Amino acid sequence: MPLSHVKRLEDQYLLGIYNRYDVLVDRGRGTYLFDQSNKRYLDLMAGIGVNALGYAHPRVVRLLRKQIKKPLHLSNLLYHEYQGRLAERLVGVSGLDRVFFTNSGTESVEGCLKFARVWANSHTGNEEQKARKYRVLALEGSFHGRTLGSLSATEKAKYREPFEPLVPGFEFVGFNDVADLERKFSDDVCAVIFETIQGERGVRPVSEEFYRRARGLTRESGAALISDEIQCGLGRTGRWFAFHKFAPASDHENLPDLVSLAKPLGLGIPLGAVLMKEDVAKSIEAGTHGTTFGGGPLACRLSLELFKIFEDERILGHVQNVGAYFRQQLDQLSGLPVVKEVRGDGLMLALELTVAARPIVEKLLDRGFIVNCTRETVLRILPPLIITKKQIDKFVGSLRPMLEDIHD
Ligand code: PLP
Repeated sequence: MPLSHVKRLEDQYLLGIYNRYDVLVDRGRGTYLFDQSNKRYLDLMAGIGVNALGYAHPRVVRLLRKQIKKPLHLSNLLYHEYQGRLAERLVGVSGLDRVFFTNSGTESVEGCLKFARVWANSHTGNEEQKARKYRVLALEGSFHGRTLGSLSATEKAKYREPFEPLVPGFEFVGFNDVADLERKFSDDVCAVIFETIQGERGVRPVSEEFYRRARGLTRESGAALISDEIQCGLGRTGRWFAFHKFAPASDHENLPDLVSLAKPLGLGIPLGAVLMKEDVAKSIEAGTHGTTFGGGPLACRLSLELFKIFEDERILGHVQNVGAYFRQQLDQLSGLPVVKEVRGDGLMLALELTVAARPIVEKLLDRGFIVNCTRETVLRILPPLIITKKQIDKFVGSLRPMLEDIHD
């Protein structure tokens, strides 16, 4: 079916909310996608951070062939062997203690917010105070999802305003502004939620000072510290979790109380997770929360394979190595008049421009590169974690003359 036909059908029958690129994808291999005319694209978007191992990884294909003969879905009222094993892996790499599986990022954030409320009110203060711990502090520039709870923690007015009134009690703290955090923090706060590296806002890392202060304040008052690692977690920075920069897995006390995950976790099959500390888990009674699809056998088995492949192919070391190389190459563009700033960690990178980024995205597409833009002026680079230095050179070599060509 030609692209024009696909577009006509979508125009007539779909809710028109996505600004798609003019590419009709046929297949993928490694870091490349191919359209129906066999044009090859180097993918530097990876399904917005989902396709960590690129496309058609032979071990993933093999595993899918095996699992396809078994039940694809089982209710959470029955056991299958993969949830427990995957939870063991997640606990092992994160340093947290227990896992609840979900289907998406926003569902993971909802879980974190609900668990934070219950936990914060279950173990602190007197009866009167308990009922009052409901406020959530999020950060200016945050993006946590589109359902009502996670949207309430998302700052962008365009996403919030059409759906107001949202959940009460949410307030935004200046990005990395410790004084503002201290000012807005009070006894009725049940959680501080942040992305260790803000994605949608254009790849902005939280500072160590901010993390430590948020950790200290929440610990002292019995509120939860929630780290949203949906985009920056699971190897994207060359560490298992971006917050490990501030607190390694062994430093239990300084880890967040709750962590939201999704995107690459199921290697393309929807899967998310909430990681939590033991005392949070103890406060959640059986039957008070749940999900139909979260933690299905296909998604969990695939996810286990992600962990094995990461180990066998030393993906974290590779990300550290090529991520630093990518950053160096982008830094060399920072002298160009249209480049305002280069940011990022590992393979979560961004070029902030002084001009609109979408025309550059279109030109790159034409030249066979898929890149995302966010906040109008930011080129966000989230390639599959298996990208090579040679591919990075090709991309930067094509990008440079495009940027040089722009005159305000
Ligand atoms: N949190 C962060 C940091 C994200 O980047 C996203 C999605 O981009 C979400 C939450 C929401 O995830 P989902 O789209 O799977 O609901």
